Amino acid sequence: KLGNATAKAELGRAAWKYFHTVMARFPEKPTQDQQDALRSYIYLFARLYPCGECASHFQQHITKYPPQVSSRKSAAGWLCFIHNEVNAMLDKPEFDCANLGDFYDCGCADKEEGDSK
Ligand code: FAD
Repeated sequence: KLGNATAKAELGRAAWKYFHTVMARFPEKPTQDQQDALRSYIYLFARLYPCGECASHFQQHITKYPPQVSSRKSAAGWLCFIHNEVNAMLDKPEFDCANLGDFYDCGCADKEEGDSK
């Protein structure tokens, strides 16, 4: 059956936005339990991603480049790198991961864990 490219792209944009925002809020100094949770979450996300072809590609990417979950910086940088791998596969421009900064804002008013402000 023919796919629907518009729906696939829309799902992709929403999923990336959500997933990058999860990384932007991951603790800077995660506990072992938090690291295990993020790693499991990434594998389950890849397994359950609704577009089968995408899920299969994504699983190949994370087999080659295992999730980095030791800190917010490494998790956000890892996902940025993986997204760039998908961008390259689809002939899309590379995103400069040095510009991640506050690009993904959860809009939450709550204080972050360990935030002294
Ligand atoms: P998107 O790639 O959706 O990016 C949205 C926005 O994120 C960009 O406009 C930019 O502001 C920002 N961004 C771009 N690159 C990065 C980065 N490296 N780090 C942080 N932010 C960034 N489509 C397919 O056709 N085939 C597939 O196999 C496929 N696999 C996918 C696997 C996953 C896990 C996901 C989430 C999506 C997949 N997609 C796939 C969809 C595809 O990646 C795009 O989401 C879709 O084509 C729409 O692209 P876009 O140009 O709007 O930007």
